[in-house]
Amino acid sequence: MIIANWKANGDIESNKIWCNQLISRMSDKGFKSIGIAPSYIHFNQIKNMLKNNGIEIGFQDIDIEGGARTGSISPSMAADSECSFCLIGHSERREIFNDDNDTISKKYKMLAKHHIKPVLCIGESFEDFQAGKTEKKLQTQIEECIQGNILSENLIIAYEPVWAIGTGNTPKPKDVNTIHEFIKDVVQSATENNIVPQVLYGGSVNKNNAADFFVQQNIDGALIGGASLNADIFSDIIDIYRRLRER
Ligand code: PEP
Repeated sequence: MIIANWKANGDIESNKIWCNQLISRMSDKGFKSIGIAPSYIHFNQIKNMLKNNGIEIGFQDIDIEGGARTGSISPSMAADSECSFCLIGHSERREIFNDDNDTISKKYKMLAKHHIKPVLCIGESFEDFQAGKTEKKLQTQIEECIQGNILSENLIIAYEPVWAIGTGNTPKPKDVNTIHEFIKDVVQSATENNIVPQVLYGGSVNKNNAADFFVQQNIDGALIGGASLNADIFSDIIDIYRRLRER
């Protein structure tokens, strides 16, 4: 799956142009395996323009509950909006909004309750990477975020090294492949029903490096920030993904 994370970008006019560009690029090839996470405010606009094509429209985050929580979007609101998937644990939420693994675990639980596909984001800092602590860090994040939760087949993990997000720096694709294999093993061992999740890579993916990632066996797709804001570039990446993964 290829998911666009628009973060706090977009407006009604430019979104319209973006959707029309995507439709004209993809209409003869189909819209399978594409997800878009626009802002909450633009969710319905994007859903109305693209949902009939089968594109999945999701949220970028969710609160742990509803009620007296000014400014929040509750899990039941997400379900009510027919949100197909929801990112949780993005490093920007961890850093700027202080989401810790315990909070992310509660979000996970609410998504499961409302049958919304969770896209759990994990990733190490540059310090952890340099110190050779990547796997340990990822294992802790996975175990603490899924603790006590029943995992479903539709779980997606997005491996996003914090130091690769929006920087133009990326790990070597073959190293990402090894890490994805590790992530699959950790999740499989943590679940009674042997779930092997799809694992997406995120962090400075663009149309020039996408093929290097998608040829790797354990890289099942990508979560894309900056490069998803341009519909043509995003479509180019989808084309590359399909050529290499959906044969
Ligand atoms: C992201 O923030 O999830 C992301 C992958 O961003 P970028 O593609 O811009 O590095």
